[in-house]
Amino acid sequence: MPGRSIRIARIAGIPVGVSPLWLIIVGLITWSLGAGYYPGQVPGITAAQSYGLGLASALLLFASILAHEFGHALVARRRGVRVEEIDLWLLGGVARMSGQPRTADDELQFALAGPIVTAVVAAVFGAIALALPGSTPPAVTALVDYQAEVNLLILGFNLIPAFPLDGGRVARALLWRRSGSIDSATRIAARIGSVFGYLLIGFGFLTALAGAFGGLWFAVIGVFIVLAAGGERMQEQIVVAFAGVTAGELMSRPAVSLPAELSLAEAQGYFARYRFTSFPVVDREGRALGILTIDQLARTARGRWEQTSAGERAERDPALLIGEREDVAELLGRPAFARLGRAAVIDDAGRPLGVVSVTDVQRAIRASRLHDVTGDPAGARRR
Ligand SMILES: [Zn+2]
Repeated sequence: MPGRSIRIARIAGIPVGVSPLWLIIVGLITWSLGAGYYPGQVPGITAAQSYGLGLASALLLFASILAHEFGHALVARRRGVRVEEIDLWLLGGVARMSGQPRTADDELQFALAGPIVTAVVAAVFGAIALALPGSTPPAVTALVDYQAEVNLLILGFNLIPAFPLDGGRVARALLWRRSGSIDSATRIAARIGSVFGYLLIGFGFLTALAGAFGGLWFAVIGVFIVLAAGGERMQEQIVVAFAGVTAGELMSRPAVSLPAELSLAEAQGYFARYRFTSFPVVDREGRALGILTIDQLARTARGRWEQTSAGERAERDPALLIGEREDVAELLGRPAFARLGRAAVIDDAGRPLGVVSVTDVQRAIRASRLHDVTGDPAGARRR
């Protein structure tokens, strides 16, 4: 997904982030509503009022999309899938989960939860619009109308059966339920998604050529769907390739751990001596607290190395610790792992056993591809 997101809040225990691109979109919506929509709807409105209403509308839209993503996230969590964060970005939001839905019914409920929330939000604004008395100031009517319409638009867009949009996930869940195979269901749903994407691109360019430049938006959305469908398919293939491979099997490097109370100056000695790029950081009982990477050390001013401890500087996201018997496929879905590129593998007592890195995973993927090509039973899939 584009750009790194900025954490803005934590709601119901789930971190919420915005992509810098989203701020641009809020600006564009504010501008287009302030310059075009509100002056057309409210006679005699001042520029300040018009842009103010534009910004308020953009932020309400932001809240609606957030509610949609929480619909997905809360259902996923109730079904036992970990929700890492919710990101708001260019074309809406995305709830990042680690792990995959376990059954077709889980996937179906999860996929429908967001659109149901959006339908409720649209219906509430629609009902308010109908209930407003004739004496209501036109600015209020215009604001309510816009929210009802934009939420209907989001609902319609999300229900397009193009994977990975919600409608495509619903389609995948139904295919999955029928065939019993998430793999083939994902393949078919991704193919349908790509076809829809290409149709949107074609439609967008044709309307743009006909003079409606707004049509380019459809092309942009089409490109997004084509890329995302391809990405989801690849992700799924990786998950399938790694199903049943445990973190303990894939980890490399015997764990040399850094006691949390060591200063960064002392930690530097570890990096120099062992030539690893990261170490699990442990408490006094030897339990893993997090990971310290050489990049984190390098980013800390040298003047502070003496008074900063490894424990303070370590990345302490629990998503960076994985049990030796846990599935690697599950780790791949964790944003924290994607960001840091490594995780500490721990035993039942929480003591570090080793480190599993993105490089280990990539090597195993290459080996499993080779295995697919040669059919060599001694390939990486052998367990
Ligand atoms: Zn959704």
